[in-house]
Amino acid sequence: MSLDDIDCAVIGAGVVGLAVARALAIAGREVVVLEAENAFGTVTSARNSEVIHAGLYYPPGSLRAELCVRGKALLYDFCTSHQVAHRRCGKLIVAATPDELPLLDTLRAQAAACGVHDLQALSADEARALEPALHSVGALLSPSTGIVDSHGLMLALLGDAQAQEAMLALCSPVLGGRVTPQGIELDVGGLAPSTLRAQTVVNSAGLGAPALARRLAGMPAAAVPQDHLAKGCYFTLTGKAPFSRLVYPAPGASGHLGVHLTLDLGGQARFGPSLRWVDAIDYTVDAADAEGFYAAVRRYWPALPDSALQPGYAGLRPKISGPGEPAADFRIDGPAEHGVPGLVNLFGIESPGLTASLAIAERVGQRLKSAP
Ligand SMILES: Cc1cc2nc3c(=O)[nH]c(=O)nc-3n(C[C@H](O)[C@H](O)[C@H](O)COP(=O)(O)OP(=O)(O)OC[C@H]3O[C@@H](n4cnc5c(N)ncnc54)[C@H](O)[C@@H]3O)c2cc1C
Repeated sequence: MSLDDIDCAVIGAGVVGLAVARALAIAGREVVVLEAENAFGTVTSARNSEVIHAGLYYPPGSLRAELCVRGKALLYDFCTSHQVAHRRCGKLIVAATPDELPLLDTLRAQAAACGVHDLQALSADEARALEPALHSVGALLSPSTGIVDSHGLMLALLGDAQAQEAMLALCSPVLGGRVTPQGIELDVGGLAPSTLRAQTVVNSAGLGAPALARRLAGMPAAAVPQDHLAKGCYFTLTGKAPFSRLVYPAPGASGHLGVHLTLDLGGQARFGPSLRWVDAIDYTVDAADAEGFYAAVRRYWPALPDSALQPGYAGLRPKISGPGEPAADFRIDGPAEHGVPGLVNLFGIESPGLTASLAIAERVGQRLKSAP
């Protein structure tokens, strides 16, 4: 088996890995992206709501809040300059009952503390004037929320990276490796197994990132969080979408955004994601879950017809906090956090990771400059 020396290895070709690869390549680094699957962007980056989040839901001062707001601005600019399909369609967050109205006030204050100042409070009549099918006793309008073609985004990120000579190696699962004084050695499996030695490694393996970090000899075990999986299922609506904006319920105390309506760029509506903690990767959608969806959706869309929902798809949130624990922040751990020169581990990059991808890439560059 040969030992090839490279400058940077990015492990994982999801939206975050591709954004990181692009940023490193533009900064003049030699980049190889190692992807286990036979195509880029087939895991969590292909199994989400495709919403460009405004940055309303995350604790002020958290990375999720900061990188969502920064990432949203970068993403809209990127989509415009690279002709990635997207729409700034806006969203309504609705109180279905009077006791939910204070939740909207809390959300508005939290958003303002995160630098999001464009939320507009609407009365029930004002909300109905925008969306006649909507039931609410009041709502917030978020004009800067949008939707994006996530595959088109990843294609454009990859195109930029490849234009700067970055290479994408598909069917190249990183099995493990070791930290040495000469660099970080990575054992790559697949059809032509090899060992690479990189000066910089970005572990952007999504659901697999903590397990991979644990298989890197020399990486302190205490610096790797416990990983958990939370499944989210979607049901799609047959027939015409009843709304032209996204519609979200008022968020509960759990931090779960609730079963919301999102639209794709073709105008089709889907509802989700639900939240269920699971032990293993499994993307099946159980038709029996529809009952809970009908109840959740009819709180804000009472006219949802019987039999209108069909099982859609599912995604898995790469959680680093478990059931009942406070939601963990993104972790972008560089040498200052774990002591390994040249290594950045990305842990817990769940929502809003798509929105924040370009801002995460910026932050990875900063972490690599931080001293061990
Ligand atoms: C249900 C759901 C809804 C969401 N909705 C939104 C939303 O509306 N808006 C938003 O901003 N965010 C949303 N998110 C979050 C967003 O989808 C993720 O944050 C983002 O896609 C993460 O991208 P990633 O590149 O980190 O991970 P991934 O897309 O999972 O990419 C990781 C890649 O690493 C590869 N890999 C894994 N292990 C290895 C290995 N050992 N060697 C080589 N390759 C490996 C995998 O094959 C994969 O391609 C949602 C997430 C979920 C689950």
